[in-house]
Amino acid sequence: MSSTLISPGTIRSNITDPSVFDVIIIGGSFAGLSAALALGRARRSVLVIDAGKPCNHMVKEAHNFITHDGDDPNLLRARAKDELSHYDTVHVIAGSVDRVSGSDGAFRVSTEEQEFMGRRILLATGVKDLPPPIPGLAECWGTSVLHCPFCHGYEVRDSALGVLGSGAVGFEFVRTIRNWSRNLILLTNGPSELTTEHADELTAHGVMVIEGPIAQLVHHDGHLTHVEFRNGRRMELKALFARLPFSIPQDIVLPLGCTLTESGHVQVDGLNRTNVPDVFAAGDLTSPMRSLAAAIASGNIAGASITHSLVSQWQ
Ligand SMILES: Cc1cc2nc3c(=O)[nH]c(=O)nc-3n(C[C@H](O)[C@H](O)[C@H](O)COP(=O)(O)OP(=O)(O)OC[C@H]3O[C@@H](n4cnc5c(N)ncnc54)[C@H](O)[C@@H]3O)c2cc1C
Repeated sequence: MSSTLISPGTIRSNITDPSVFDVIIIGGSFAGLSAALALGRARRSVLVIDAGKPCNHMVKEAHNFITHDGDDPNLLRARAKDELSHYDTVHVIAGSVDRVSGSDGAFRVSTEEQEFMGRRILLATGVKDLPPPIPGLAECWGTSVLHCPFCHGYEVRDSALGVLGSGAVGFEFVRTIRNWSRNLILLTNGPSELTTEHADELTAHGVMVIEGPIAQLVHHDGHLTHVEFRNGRRMELKALFARLPFSIPQDIVLPLGCTLTESGHVQVDGLNRTNVPDVFAAGDLTSPMRSLAAAIASGNIAGASITHSLVSQWQ
């Protein structure tokens, strides 16, 4: 097999590209690269355009991924790109897609510098987490402010932990995190919005609720030492679990006509097809169940599904 290594940053002049790619994948992280592998092995011409800002870029150890538990996700991504370089029909380039137009097997994908044509589109952009404006929180995100107990809970088990949230969401998150530590408080950063029933249940299970507004998260290099409240009170915590709001690349998704789910993700069926013919989506963009394994699995399914859609038209 001949090798075409296109390193991130290498631009089009090095690509022996067809005039029309079978598939253009927008986003080259776990979902997009997984799909590219399936499609490259299916001998499809594939262009992956990646802006290089995955949601977990700051994480040194990823967990809950069998055979790679504790590995650096950035090294895993680099290795995936290296593996793809052995498939001469797969090209991975750096760039940020700002526009996708077209329909029915004929799409134009534009970055600031270039335009490409593709028969199928795979949206694998992930989502952008939006930290609330609590000083210190953005710096701790991914190190000691954590999105997912399955990914990072074991490492902070039995420590003093906080959950940042309110209402039913905060309540449910506390119930989940309690299995990792009984030394747990709920920080609502304002009115708790808990029902009386939920508040009573938390009290009965020894979970303190603090409604006081947070002044800042004090940390060393992203490692939380304590939470400081506006009334001057301080509370030592090892980690804080938080479900952050997020955004999706609406400028790409909405003009294509993709339907969104109630949670704000791109709606796909079991074969990762969106409601728009020949447009597919995979990974975090399509699901609140965020994990490397889930993103890789959905990219893998999308790769097979796209292949099937091409061959069904004798392409
Ligand atoms: C802080 C944190 C820690 C995590 N830790 C773990 C863990 O330990 N274990 C685990 O299993 N999961 C973990 N996850 C979840 C996991 O990282 C995600 O589920 C996974 O990365 C999703 O892969 P993805 O390819 O869908 O999106 P991402 O990995 O977010 O990648 C999307 C890619 O698309 C690119 N992109 C976006 N827009 C464009 C555009 N317009 N043009 C071109 N490219 C674009 C981005 O720059 C990025 O490179 C963590 C998540 C976070 C936020």
